[in-house]
Amino acid sequence: MKSFAELANPWVQDLVVYEPGRPIEEVARELGFTNPGDIIKLASNENALGPSPLAVQAMRGAAETMHLYPDGGTFTLRQALAAHLDVDPAQILPGTGSNELIELLGHAFLGEGTNIVMSRQAFVVYRLVANAARAATIAVPMTDFRHDLMAMLDAITPETKIVFIANPNNPTGTMVSQAEIDRFMDAVPNDVIVCFDEAYVELLDPGQQPDVLQYVRAGRNVVVLRTFSKAYGLAGLRMGYAVAPEPCSALLNSVRQPFNVNAMAQVAARAALADEDHIERTRRLVSDGIAQFEAGFKALGLAWVPTVVNFVLVEVGAGRETFVALQKEGVITRPMDGYGLPGHIRITIGTREENEKCLLALARVMEDSK
Ligand SMILES: *Cc1c(COP(=O)(O)O)cnc(C)c1O
Repeated sequence: MKSFAELANPWVQDLVVYEPGRPIEEVARELGFTNPGDIIKLASNENALGPSPLAVQAMRGAAETMHLYPDGGTFTLRQALAAHLDVDPAQILPGTGSNELIELLGHAFLGEGTNIVMSRQAFVVYRLVANAARAATIAVPMTDFRHDLMAMLDAITPETKIVFIANPNNPTGTMVSQAEIDRFMDAVPNDVIVCFDEAYVELLDPGQQPDVLQYVRAGRNVVVLRTFSKAYGLAGLRMGYAVAPEPCSALLNSVRQPFNVNAMAQVAARAALADEDHIERTRRLVSDGIAQFEAGFKALGLAWVPTVVNFVLVEVGAGRETFVALQKEGVITRPMDGYGLPGHIRITIGTREENEKCLLALARVMEDSK
């Protein structure tokens, strides 16, 4: 009898599984915390304010109709998003988190003999999707933890299908400017797809948000990814979307599952989209939290990467050991060795109290490691 390993597609056996932020309940079970409430999670860049109250209200109302399949064509949601973004509804394709859209890009465009270009310290899911599609990954070094767009341009080969630009970028918390983007777009070959992953863009003040949707409206080979997981506080629902010229969104549409976006997510996303107040309160919480962490890091003598979003990369010496020690203190962060940054951890900005707890725990851990 052949083993499953022998039966599997040969490239599948080598795939590496994504290491997500650890759930509170899992850490509580493992470390013997009797009260999971003693643990805080600052590991996955979730919104510390929780979901939009309007979205919660809408979901309560929708619970009674969950015996029905969702609208597989996401008509009402696409109308609402199109009006919000000033694009055509046909240019929008919602998915199960923007992660699904990355996978659909892989299904539609990647394969053996192709490659993607990304920064070395950018969202690892691009590489995982490329691996699953048997495409190669060209990882370009960053400059001062920022995308080096000109180096990424130079890295493009005739086999390159997609350049992934997370802006702002995870895990560095940095962003590239409109001028840098425009220079890149002026020079990038027309037969390459440029994917701007804007998972965190709503956390920026409107005046700071780069405009890449203009390239979609102009019909360039550009895909913009957005999500309801971060600023909108709906990570548990798995709801994201792509904005792309219609021929591209039609291709992505053809490789998705019929009901990829669940009915609860469709209802909640529409309500959250209208809740500007929640987004503004979230922005304030994040900017206050960044100031709090910066003061705390300074007091501890730690170097950090200046951030524009709701997480911060801080240099602690031994990243994985610090991550483990913080967990024992009831604070879940994210080790960064998988991103080639073994000396750093990434901390999500939480509430004032959570940030305080994290900084106190970090002080104890740094003291113990001396
Ligand atoms: C969190 C994040 C996402 C969002 O993923 P979802 O599947 O929408 O939850 C996408 N891209 C980046 C860079 C992220 O950090």
